[in-house]
Amino acid sequence: MLDTHCHLNDAQFDNDIEVVVSNFLRAGGDKAICVAWDVASSKKAEQISNKYAQVYYSVGVHPDEVAGFNANELENLIKAAQSKQSKLVAIGEIGLDYFHNKENKAEQRVAFIKQIELANKYHLPIIIHCREAYGDTLEVLKQFAPFKYGAVMHCYSGSLEYANELLRLGVKISFTGTVTYKNAVNVKEVAKNIPLDSFFLETDCPYLAPVPHRGERNELAFVYNVAECVAELRNMAVSDLIAATDSNAQKFFHLA
Ligand SMILES: [Zn+2]
Repeated sequence: MLDTHCHLNDAQFDNDIEVVVSNFLRAGGDKAICVAWDVASSKKAEQISNKYAQVYYSVGVHPDEVAGFNANELENLIKAAQSKQSKLVAIGEIGLDYFHNKENKAEQRVAFIKQIELANKYHLPIIIHCREAYGDTLEVLKQFAPFKYGAVMHCYSGSLEYANELLRLGVKISFTGTVTYKNAVNVKEVAKNIPLDSFFLETDCPYLAPVPHRGERNELAFVYNVAECVAELRNMAVSDLIAATDSNAQKFFHLA
């Protein structure tokens, strides 16, 4: 069982990361991708991937962190990683977020585009973050589609129409614990209807713990609760759902 998007590099895991990883293994987990949001968290993600056989990682600058964005610094991290046996598997999370900041839309866009270009240059897939910026995100994605090295919209929370638009552009979808929330009518509809080969599962921990853990610190093992919910929506066995989404993610991120 894979968790395709977690933040083991978040300070909330500093004291018990060993326990969190072993809980995951005990729950049937085998691989997780530790996703970055800035340069420091990119470096920390790499260190964690060196320590734990199950952990892969991404580098990237989140739209909330684009002040002082330095593409060269990021490119150097990618080059260094690719010059050795690293477990770098993606650029992310990158994108647009107008919920937290509407004042720097132009800067966010520049950083987003520059990072898509880096992903193309270094043959890596991108992990997209989009919050209250659906129109502009789509416009940028249209410029770069189809994504030869892959693109995934993480923590999907849009409509079914928007999801279908993304799928037409070759962008995959990924679900977090939000799909388990009672009032998440749209997300549930998407999880029920999109093709089985078009999506992955993730926790986005320490955030967005799924039911029945809602309100707690989220952790890798809880990806099982996301799987259970999506399997129920699609009226299929959890084990079959996990086998399918794992195989999707495995191929997408080229996990060894
Ligand atoms: Zn995240």
